[in-house]
Amino acid sequence: MLDLTFEAPKPKVIAGAQHDWELVIGLEVHAQVSSNAKLFSGASTRFGAEPNSNVAFVDAAMPGMLPVINEYCVAQAVRTGLGLKAAINLKSAFDRKNYFYPDLPQGYQISQLYHPIVGEGEVLVEMGPGVGRVVRIERIHLEQDAGKSIHDMDPNMSFVDLNRTGVALMEIVSRPDIRGSEEAAAYVVKLRQILRYLGTCDGNMQNGNLRADVNVSICRPGDYERYWQTQDFAHLGTRCEIKNMNSMRFIQAAIEVEARRQIAIVEGGGSVDQETRLYDPDKAETRSMRSKEEAHDYRYFPCPDLLPLEIEQGWVDDIADSLPELPDAKKTRFMGDFGLTDYDASVLTADVDSAAYFEAVAQGRDGKLAANWVINELFGRLKKEYHTMSESPVSADQLGGIVDLITRGDISGKIAKELFEIVYTQGGDPARIVDERGMKQVTDTGAIEAAVDQIIADNPAQVEKVQVNPKLAGWFVGQVMKATGGKANPKAVNQIVAKKLAL
Ligand code: ADP
Ligand code: MG
Repeated sequence: MLDLTFEAPKPKVIAGAQHDWELVIGLEVHAQVSSNAKLFSGASTRFGAEPNSNVAFVDAAMPGMLPVINEYCVAQAVRTGLGLKAAINLKSAFDRKNYFYPDLPQGYQISQLYHPIVGEGEVLVEMGPGVGRVVRIERIHLEQDAGKSIHDMDPNMSFVDLNRTGVALMEIVSRPDIRGSEEAAAYVVKLRQILRYLGTCDGNMQNGNLRADVNVSICRPGDYERYWQTQDFAHLGTRCEIKNMNSMRFIQAAIEVEARRQIAIVEGGGSVDQETRLYDPDKAETRSMRSKEEAHDYRYFPCPDLLPLEIEQGWVDDIADSLPELPDAKKTRFMGDFGLTDYDASVLTADVDSAAYFEAVAQGRDGKLAANWVINELFGRLKKEYHTMSESPVSADQLGGIVDLITRGDISGKIAKELFEIVYTQGGDPARIVDERGMKQVTDTGAIEAAVDQIIADNPAQVEKVQVNPKLAGWFVGQVMKATGGKANPKAVNQIVAKKLAL
């Protein structure tokens, strides 16, 4: 728990032609469970494998094959639930969701409609320092993914790749508590961050490992309050569901255009049809995929091939004991232990690797200085070359070494940047590089005095000017720094220049 006091952000108001409107958004996020094997078979889940090479008989729905539940996937769902402070249901059950599609050879998907494994939880979405919204989680259920139909490889044929068939998904369903498009994206970012900390989903949206169905409706100011008081959906507008969004940018854009479409309909005297829509990023519009009337009747029924799933409280407790420190807790600790600002702590805890790296650099050193070097120098440099944290050529030990040299006054900030560049591009021990290349700061006042005397002697005209305008002392400081190759201690130079010029 973040022990800061949070204020809920105001819902975003959109001005229509006639009225003001507010947005109401609920997300169904499909997160692929990180697991080597599928939910009901031992087949591999490796991404990018040769098509149809990771398919067990049960995934291909061969006659007589029976699913066997993968305990690890169940543990991952429980871990996720615990990470979202959710209720874990010791009894859950699987249902068949029947529909026909070429990439679903069984003719049904095994899911959990009536008794999901995880119940109510919450996600704190921060929208700025001290401003955040708690988004309630309604449920998380386990289900199988479908395969992939490929229509663009041949003009006359379609292909199917069943590698993804049967891979475990968690469907994480939020309550309609999200009140703007930025909040929706921030919610997905936060959820993904938590899943990655937990190690239950890699959150890779490009590979489709995290995708969201976005439900959008509009209401008049005050209506949401009435919904909140009663939890009665009648106070809210009719929602449309935008399917399968796999980028933060598209989620935001789709919500904006969908809200405007609904406002135009309602202000024009019409009413919104509850339907499933698709977002077209090229045209920046949503298009109807199917309306409620044409919605599938999935004829859900309890899956006869699987016993109800019963787990023990002791097993859940063991998983709870093994949870890692989660983002909110880590951020609070970083702010407290290292005196970091809200912003710096957020940046450093955005992913586990960065947080661990920072902590190694900051351990036993000045936390703020360490944060400054990790964020501004290292992250800045990595970003320039589109590198991630794990590709950093500078280890935490090396960066810590640079911070030590600065703290001891061995090198100036300017030299430290040069040193960082050497370590980044060529590697090596920072202290040894400083020794070998004579980069140590000159704090020997005798040497600095000699340099100052020399410059005063060589520049009588400048000396006259500075007597009239003491601000010109900076010029002398610059000359001394130049003469010493930037290695003179700037504070000492300033003092000696002022003294010698009798300013
Ligand atoms: P279904 O099973 O038909 O998809 P759910 O009750 O599971 O319906 O709701 C799906 C999602 O729609 C949930 O995330 C929920 O928060 C969201 N939702 C429900 N009503 C609204 C609404 N009026 N506006 C926006 N989102 C909504
Ligand atoms: Mg749904």
